Amino acid sequence: MFEKILIANRGEIALRVIRACREMGIKSVAVHSTADADAMHVRLADESVCIGPNASSQSYLSIPAIVSACEITGAEAIHPGYGFLSENANFVQVLEDHGITFIGPTAEHIRIMGDKITAKETAKALGIPVVPGSDGGVPDVATALKTAEAIGYPVIIKATAGGGGRGMKVAKSSDELEVAFRTARSEAKAAFGNDEVYMEKYLQKPRHIEIQVFGDGKGHAVHLGERDCSLQRRHQKVFEEAPGPVITPEQRARIGKICADAVAKIGYIGAGTIEFLFEDGEFYFIEMNTRLQVEHPVTEGIFGVDLVREQIRVAAGLPMSFTQDDLQINGHAIEVRINAEKIPEFAPRPGKVKVFHAPGGLGVRMDSALYAGYSIPPYYDSLIGKLIVHGRDRPEALARLKRALAELIIDGVETTIPLFHALLDEPDIQNGAYNIHWLEKWLAATYG
Ligand code: ADP
Repeated sequence: MFEKILIANRGEIALRVIRACREMGIKSVAVHSTADADAMHVRLADESVCIGPNASSQSYLSIPAIVSACEITGAEAIHPGYGFLSENANFVQVLEDHGITFIGPTAEHIRIMGDKITAKETAKALGIPVVPGSDGGVPDVATALKTAEAIGYPVIIKATAGGGGRGMKVAKSSDELEVAFRTARSEAKAAFGNDEVYMEKYLQKPRHIEIQVFGDGKGHAVHLGERDCSLQRRHQKVFEEAPGPVITPEQRARIGKICADAVAKIGYIGAGTIEFLFEDGEFYFIEMNTRLQVEHPVTEGIFGVDLVREQIRVAAGLPMSFTQDDLQINGHAIEVRINAEKIPEFAPRPGKVKVFHAPGGLGVRMDSALYAGYSIPPYYDSLIGKLIVHGRDRPEALARLKRALAELIIDGVETTIPLFHALLDEPDIQNGAYNIHWLEKWLAATYG
């Protein structure tokens, strides 16, 4: 087992990894930008290294600075968290060259899944059902029109290098296609430096269902059921739950096995998430994330496993600590993302936190790096915490979430807490009757 791990991240996810390290008797190294000198991950880690100025391009994304921090502190492995360098194949390659273990999949698997066209082709070849669409990239408007005729309108144009919901455009008819195609391309170019796009049938009322998989890199893999992340704003998740309110045990077992078999076959190592759109009882692959997801705690809640501990174990060459048969669902878990944002615009509101009180009690988990007196810097993501609740069933989890939200106090900055109070009063949320468009429609109807 490793003696020391460096965490190439900040905020709640850095704390999450520090916690796993401490329980495993592993020393942790925090890295931070100058803006984060007073951050909680710096305080809680065993050691810390300043790796650069405020801008993440010069700190949390700086490969030379992070490799140097490993060399200075003698850390043998790096946990990337999510975001930043977590899906950067080049980073993994550099670590390999320096004899540092990356806690995550191989550079090759990251590369395959990072390009959405290759990912889709690979998924298809592995027997995973995919959304009907173009065969690879769509080079021009003429091809786009031809493809749309073949798959039928509405269609969605998506960036090959996409992520974070950017570079996606929907066209309802041929009249809209040319503009949608050109806009998607220029957005993709601006956001990812790559203007290649592909096309899919646009599903009208799907749910976003994702399957958690885990492999040991030696041909063994399991699935840990699904998460329903359909409540989204601008393709960004805000509320996630497990198990999915509409997924039957048979559907779970069927798609779970397809996913576990697929990752076993490619010798995948560590945690991964295979994302699907789910409509009329069918699953359609959209992408695979080769890292720990923000919403992993709901899966941990219902299976009672520590996914970060497991990531560290397999990275150190140990076997997984559970088999498929060990993984039985217990109850229901829900996560809400607390962002420092003003609703309904969701405009970032960094600033000084005056009071912070985390909720507690049975079945309540608060993953946050906040503390009273902390100044949320304006340079990074606005996620400031995740509130996760677990109950014996969905109604109990919902009641617990309402109770815990009422206990959560963050004074000094505006947050998305009021959004969740309002959502929990909605019959559709209480009944689990929502799809990927529900939240946008509700926001428009509620706030205009
Ligand atoms: P990203 O990597 O940018 O997050 P995804 O491919 O995961 O992109 O898609 C993000 C979200 O966009 C999905 O959860 C869904 O809401 C919407 N979306 C993507 N593809 C389709 C599609 N074919 N039909 C309908 N909605 C889609």
